[in-house]
Amino acid sequence: MKTEIETIPGETPGIAYELIVHRLAGAEPRAPRVYIQSALHADERPGVAAMHYLIPMLEKAEAEGRLLGSVTLVPHANPIGAAQHLYGDHMGRFSTGTRTNFNRDFPVPDVTGIRRLDAASSAVFAERRLKSRLLELADGCPIVLDLHCDDEGVQYIYAPEQLWPQMADLAACLDCEAALLWDSGSDRAFEEAVFEEMKARAPAGDLTGHCVTTVELRGQNDVDATLGRKDAEGLYRFLQGRGVVAADAKPQPELRKDFVGQPIRHVEMVLAPVGGTILFHVAPGERVEAGQVVAEIIVSPGREAGTVAVPAPQAGFVLTRRIRRFIRMGDNLLKIIGDQPAVASRKGALED
Ligand SMILES: [Zn+2]
Repeated sequence: MKTEIETIPGETPGIAYELIVHRLAGAEPRAPRVYIQSALHADERPGVAAMHYLIPMLEKAEAEGRLLGSVTLVPHANPIGAAQHLYGDHMGRFSTGTRTNFNRDFPVPDVTGIRRLDAASSAVFAERRLKSRLLELADGCPIVLDLHCDDEGVQYIYAPEQLWPQMADLAACLDCEAALLWDSGSDRAFEEAVFEEMKARAPAGDLTGHCVTTVELRGQNDVDATLGRKDAEGLYRFLQGRGVVAADAKPQPELRKDFVGQPIRHVEMVLAPVGGTILFHVAPGERVEAGQVVAEIIVSPGREAGTVAVPAPQAGFVLTRRIRRFIRMGDNLLKIIGDQPAVASRKGALED
């Protein structure tokens, strides 16, 4: 494995960021190339824990001649966001300098099919140069994994509808409980930008063997050695199944019997009807019925009628819930995958 530390100049004198890129060389030129990054939202750490265990596994495979496809790994994909603290609290989702979500506004091909990336010397903010560089690193790889997590959530993935169910092997290897299938963009998230370029480069539009996804490795606090190892082993098995690492005799896992795979228009974004303190009645992974109380919000503590009950808008599967227990009116309380479509169509990302 070769490690390169690239420098991203900051916008002001004396500031620079380091992007650490690991490259492992596959022995078989026809085997799929792979790109994996984690912590693009710099406050999401389960992917870093998975990388911590995956990197030595891949190094060993490379050293023993079992690594067939070349692999590029960027475990700290967002050194800019990693350095953002305000009065002791880390802020890793949005750039404090531009108010832009670090996983939105990636450059995508325009109507003529041309993608314009910013060069390392372009006179634009560092985050735009970083985004262009991450896309360049992923270019030409039919397998691209962007490791994220939710607030509190089950293990799930986003997948372009065009690549489903061919990506079900990833969901099975990661022991996912759900997949959200999108077909009309995600406000130019990394995944969407990679997929658009992938489609533009695919000969005759053939996407066989391709996989691009935002992987949601449960919730922000689901970071420990057991889960990190489990996720690394799941990713490794997926790479074996795809011919990136030489396979062993173990059978590939299958999707869970209770797996929920639905188009993204099935997602009910349950918003807080009032502000206050949350008492959840359900947790991610549970089934709910229409009208079932999923949470109460305490508005006037100890007073009669001091809480507001929040019902499930329809029957479905609780995918995620808010990690903090104080909420504003209008903030997202839970995401439920409804049995029926929640909206006629859904364009863009679910959240800012
Ligand atoms: Zn994220």
